[in-house]
Amino acid sequence: MNFDLTPEQKQVRDVARDFAQAELGDKIAPFDERHEFPHAIVAKLGPLGFLGALVPEEYGGAGLDYVSYALIVEELNRGDASVGITMWAHNSLCTNHVTLFASPAQKAKWLPRLAHGEILGAWGLTEPGSGSDAAALRTRAERRDGGYVLNGSKAFITNASVGALAVVMARTDPTKGAKGISAFVVEKGTPGFSAGTPYRKLGLHASDTAELIFEDARVPADHVLGAEGQGFVQAMQVLEGGRIAMAAMAVGIAQAAVDAAVKYMKQRTAFGKTLAEFNGLQGMIAELATEVEVARLLLLRAAYLKDSGRPAMHAAAMAKVFASEAAMKAATKAVQIHGGAGYITEFPVERIFRDAKLTEIGEGTSEVQRLVIAREILKAS
Ligand SMILES: Cc1cc2nc3c(=O)[nH]c(=O)nc-3n(C[C@H](O)[C@H](O)[C@H](O)COP(=O)(O)OP(=O)(O)OC[C@H]3O[C@@H](n4cnc5c(N)ncnc54)[C@H](O)[C@@H]3O)c2cc1C
Repeated sequence: MNFDLTPEQKQVRDVARDFAQAELGDKIAPFDERHEFPHAIVAKLGPLGFLGALVPEEYGGAGLDYVSYALIVEELNRGDASVGITMWAHNSLCTNHVTLFASPAQKAKWLPRLAHGEILGAWGLTEPGSGSDAAALRTRAERRDGGYVLNGSKAFITNASVGALAVVMARTDPTKGAKGISAFVVEKGTPGFSAGTPYRKLGLHASDTAELIFEDARVPADHVLGAEGQGFVQAMQVLEGGRIAMAAMAVGIAQAAVDAAVKYMKQRTAFGKTLAEFNGLQGMIAELATEVEVARLLLLRAAYLKDSGRPAMHAAAMAKVFASEAAMKAATKAVQIHGGAGYITEFPVERIFRDAKLTEIGEGTSEVQRLVIAREILKAS
């Protein structure tokens, strides 16, 4: 067994770490405060290859493995989770769905622009009436005049208003349950297709989350990804990789919380000592750092399985549930270590605390991850 990253993986991680240190962190705080999407900062991800991380080189991407991709996601989220989730949704959900299931002609049409970062992508599965129970989705795609007409809406979609296209799951056959769902690429500018006003959220204020609305939106027949009826199965495969990346997002946020706590413990004094000299706080930071490392190992194991072409759903669910709960705990304790300073916006832990919560909800809640893990264990025993 080898725990070392390859030289290429280390290099990718270092580029992402340097970028996060130079461009994210405190620089994002004003955007977070204004609930503003940092267009200029996100635009810098394209030339670094981060917006085509998983796209094959022949379509303009970086063609990286999952371990490298996970390292980028971790480092960007360590810098800032709003930019982190923007990059995650674009890569793991939208672009990866196209990479995995589009025809060569469809890939040639959409992937180069997505991979270069000329456009951002969104991915719509969740609806106002269906989230965890995704197969209950109701957005309808009816065949008409050689194409499809979409009606319905999607809720909580990352990059919904900043994205130039979205991969959307819609029901082509209402009689077939999950097998009646198909995946479509819908481009901005399509009459009847629009994004709602971005939500005001608990955290991730500098990311874009909004509804996608379909009112007789006419989509050409050659915008279906794969065969009709395959949309739900495709979405589940997309979620496998997406959960690995959401675990990476959580590890990055957890590490950011520990970083902030350690920095503060060294500078703040009480009773004539720095906080770093108090045994109680040393124990707290040791426990958090250990949990971040466990989360990282689970993450890298899931990414390694994915790179080896082996089933990774179970490992992805374990990594995601553990890492997200470690992130929430680390953020909560980091605020505690800051005392009153942790409760005001001047210090980054306040933002990290708000951002961390999403990782326990998005891409399948912690409860859903536990269902996935238990199902596999009970099947095996
Ligand atoms: C900031 C943000 C960004 C997002 N981005 C996207 C995106 O880009 N694309 C997209 O498609 N979606 C996105 N989502 C949606 C997200 O994936 C869903 O919110 C999530 O899957 C949960 O679905 P729900 O909100 O409908 O909750 P519900 O499914 O209504 O769940 C409510 C509660 O019930 C629990 N529950 C549900 N079923 C079970 C069960 N069987 N057993 C035990 N407990 C259960 C849940 O764990 C939860 O605690 C985003 C959400 C947020 C907040």
